[in-house]
Amino acid sequence: MKTVIEKITEQLTEEDKKKIEAAGDILKQGGLVAFPTETVYGLGADALNPEASKKIYAAKGRPSDNPLIVHISNMKALEKITSEIPEKAKKMAKEFWPGPLTMIFPKSEQVPLETTGGLETVAVRMPNHPIALALIDAGGGYIAAPSANTSGKPSPTKAEHVALDMDGKIPMILDGGAVGIGIESTIVDFSTEIPMILRPGYITPEMIQKVIGEVKMDPGLSMDDPTAHPKAPGMKYKHYAPKADLILVNGAQEKVIQKINELVSMAQESGKKTGVIGTDETCGRYQAGIVKSIGTRSEEDTIARHLYGILREFDDLDVDVIYSESFSTPRIGQAIMNRMLKAAGHQVIEV
Ligand code: AMP
Ligand code: MG
Repeated sequence: MKTVIEKITEQLTEEDKKKIEAAGDILKQGGLVAFPTETVYGLGADALNPEASKKIYAAKGRPSDNPLIVHISNMKALEKITSEIPEKAKKMAKEFWPGPLTMIFPKSEQVPLETTGGLETVAVRMPNHPIALALIDAGGGYIAAPSANTSGKPSPTKAEHVALDMDGKIPMILDGGAVGIGIESTIVDFSTEIPMILRPGYITPEMIQKVIGEVKMDPGLSMDDPTAHPKAPGMKYKHYAPKADLILVNGAQEKVIQKINELVSMAQESGKKTGVIGTDETCGRYQAGIVKSIGTRSEEDTIARHLYGILREFDDLDVDVIYSESFSTPRIGQAIMNRMLKAAGHQVIEV
């Protein structure tokens, strides 16, 4: 299959709208279209068409028990695909939609089990991106869309990343440039007495507490307990992994720099091609290896935005091992570290 890449601007000119209509037609006919959202690029299909959903699993190589998030563009659409909307969820939608928040609801008959990975619940998000919202409308209003990467690889934050993974497998990619946030949405489940965060994201527990009061973190996400089972099926899989071995070094900044320098020289002595992930503040302090800055600690959003891109850059460079600082930054550090620890297979050196 030939994959067409269409450049679209967020201004949505008449020409852009025509391209989005064509993409919407592909979706309505049961085909796949990759598109930008504010979090990462999504791989879209008509969520109410079981055959279309199945194509997503095939293109990504995604395990069939890992459910898809349904993307909508308005609140009316939520009623059609859910059988119950808790009051707290309504408040959350009012505050955070459109935005990087996914909520889990009991599903209605309209949603096929192929879309929900066999579950009686459905995950729903209203993205805050003009191209995504226009495509959802053009494609029938209900677009199932996981991240547009091959399963297990870092999520795509640019159309070029999507093309590397999906070229020849899908008919169209809408290229809206680099995304703004760079990590996936926060997922919140309301089926327990106290709502639970199933995946940390840009919307933090503190932000949620301000709107609905108490919220818990899924105990299954605990990295200290290898027997813990995350409630979101997708969180149990190895994820976001670069080709190289990624090892995080955690501790006070000076000690981290010293340790990484030691580790790099040892790795190089044994003939390994080595990468280092630092920040604008520290990159000049690393003496060897291929050193890349992920962003600046004074603006933690930059770290989230560049995380997956930097892992893919090291893939291109064919390094054997990457040593990285750890980024437990104050606000979204929890979400960043959730992804980094998975990418590193939980290899952390404490200094
Ligand atoms: P992705 O879209 O690739 O970022 O992955 C979607 C995430 O949402 C995965 O971790 C899924 O397991 C999770 N998810 C989707 N639907 C549900 C659901 N009904 N219940 C719990 N988790 C869900
Ligand atoms: Mg994903």
